[in-house]
Amino acid sequence: QAHLDRIAAVDGDVHAFLHVNEHALAAAADVDRRRAAGEDLGPMAGVPLAVKDVLVTTDQPSTSGSKILEGYMSPFDATVVARSRAAGLIPIGKTNMDEFAMGSSTEHSAYGPTRNPWDLDRIPGGSGGGSAAAVAAFEAPLALGSDTGGSIRQPAHVTGTVGVKPTYGGVSRYGAIALASSLDQVGPVTRTVLDAGLLHDIIGGHDPKDSTSLDEAWPSFAAAAREGATGEVLKGLRVGVIREFPDSGFQPGVAASFRESLARMEAQGAEIVEISAPHFEYAVAAYYLILPAEASSNLAKFDSVRFGLRVTPEGGATVEDVMSATREAGFGPEVKRRIILGTYALSAGYYDAYYGSAQKVRTLIQQDFANAFAEVDVIATPSAPTTAFKIGEKIDDPLQMYLNDLTTIPANLAGIPGISIPSGLAEEDGLPVGIQFLAPAREDARLYRVGAALE
Ligand code: GLN
Repeated sequence: QAHLDRIAAVDGDVHAFLHVNEHALAAAADVDRRRAAGEDLGPMAGVPLAVKDVLVTTDQPSTSGSKILEGYMSPFDATVVARSRAAGLIPIGKTNMDEFAMGSSTEHSAYGPTRNPWDLDRIPGGSGGGSAAAVAAFEAPLALGSDTGGSIRQPAHVTGTVGVKPTYGGVSRYGAIALASSLDQVGPVTRTVLDAGLLHDIIGGHDPKDSTSLDEAWPSFAAAAREGATGEVLKGLRVGVIREFPDSGFQPGVAASFRESLARMEAQGAEIVEISAPHFEYAVAAYYLILPAEASSNLAKFDSVRFGLRVTPEGGATVEDVMSATREAGFGPEVKRRIILGTYALSAGYYDAYYGSAQKVRTLIQQDFANAFAEVDVIATPSAPTTAFKIGEKIDDPLQMYLNDLTTIPANLAGIPGISIPSGLAEEDGLPVGIQFLAPAREDARLYRVGAALE
């Protein structure tokens, strides 16, 4: 009830939620009943959870921020939602996002932007700006996000929250409306590293319904966070910083906060090692071919027949007329831009030049990481180049918007885990800054240890 009251008080300004769960109190009462009946629900029972609208839910609409899915009710829950309910978490609402998770500011939502609780004229990051703003504004203690190129970590950076992109395959994608299937991962957005670990423990692990789900036993990430909190882990930890990320590409306050964090780690016994990742400069370019290619294929299912909106044009008779009128009305400009880009990149005659080349770059980036992790335990970067920018500032310049993802994209291309934790406020504007840590695939626990040590 306290969180519902908080939502009622502030969400008119913040607009973190697309839908507030009218069944939340009934779900809470049900958790009480289960507990009274002796069910062991674990430590998180009764805690409200904000759910990014990319994740399908049976009790609330799921739109992925798009008009084409307005009012869509899923017949099943995403695995991460089902597991959260089983653990007694209460889905409190569905959070706003860039349409189909395409964006870095939540301005591409078909339902209007979310505002950053630190400064309502600024963006909360994207695509998961709703989840991060809900957590930062105390509308929910925990949230779920999805990260294809940074959509958990960059919103965490600009809202002073913690965001984790797990190892690819570590968390089920079943019921996550697909953007780019080889890049998408679901993960936690919280106020502390321990909270993220507790949520990750609930949603993670093998799911037979996701063919890319890793079939292995994971350690407890909450235990890793508790272990890390003593700071011991920093002694002798080898932290890689990337030579090719020049200070000049980052806002001064972001670079300064990053250097301060490194100095703090060094003071506690960490060793800072310069590493080379020569192919990172091509990561954004490769990503913005691979993502549109996969997205154009994934979004073909919105064909006016199987899901959501159907528009029948006046005088239109053929299936094609209905399909194109529906997609014309249902998709926003950024989605159309990427469908056109992706379709072009995959077309006969251009496939090798664009999609094929981008895949080769992807392999080179994976090799850069493999070489780096032979020398260091984790890699550290600023989580994003700037603090929260003004709403409207980059909306007309897609390339500027894409460049925001410079530091987050390489992890998705390589399938490795990443965490963003708050590292302070930028001197020039007083806005939150995050530091990102990356670890080898399957070593998510290392990120929880290091993140909790620095927190
Ligand atoms: N900003 C990136 C994009 O627009 C990231 C998206 C995401 O992670 N879902 O594609």
